[in-house]
Amino acid sequence: MDLYSGYINTLIDELAALPGIGSKSAQRLAFHLINLPEGRVRRLSEAILQAKQNVRYCRECFTLTDSEICPICKNEQRDHNTIMVVENTRDLAAYEKTGKYQGVYHVLHGAISPMLGIGPHDIRLKELMERLSREPEVKEVIIATNSSLEGETTAMYISKLIKPTGIRVTRIASGVPVGGDLEYIDEVTLLRALDGRVEM
Ligand code: ZN
Repeated sequence: MDLYSGYINTLIDELAALPGIGSKSAQRLAFHLINLPEGRVRRLSEAILQAKQNVRYCRECFTLTDSEICPICKNEQRDHNTIMVVENTRDLAAYEKTGKYQGVYHVLHGAISPMLGIGPHDIRLKELMERLSREPEVKEVIIATNSSLEGETTAMYISKLIKPTGIRVTRIASGVPVGGDLEYIDEVTLLRALDGRVEM
């Protein structure tokens, strides 16, 4: 027998399907939402829908953005000859928060993982190579993938692809804890990793 109404169960199931939300948290959130004024709930669902419908990938760096080209790629004060390769938009945000990195980015949206069956064609690697051939003035590619097995595999793969083009390829220092998600690492550690980057 169901404890709650069908509507509540559906809501709990949807919430529990989100990353990092267990069934207890899903129940707590569901009841919280039910008790909110209708206007609040409407704004929340509208915000989710608007984000889903309007957010897209930047044509240049593939980060998530509202416009065709993201504010970072659009900014002429940035050093467009230095491209930092990150696994996802959250990692980009972590480096942006330091306020010290002046170059631009390329977001892969994943990492190569033979274990999970994720190959080079499943991430935005082809787009990076196309961008490099389109922008011959690029001087350095900094690979800032995570120091997990997947991140290291991806770094090696990218380095091998780019090396023949003569563009300098560097890897952020291994001061970043192994297996550490870049977004959870403090700014000082991130900057140290960037400053201590080594040639690949
Ligand atoms: Zn961009």
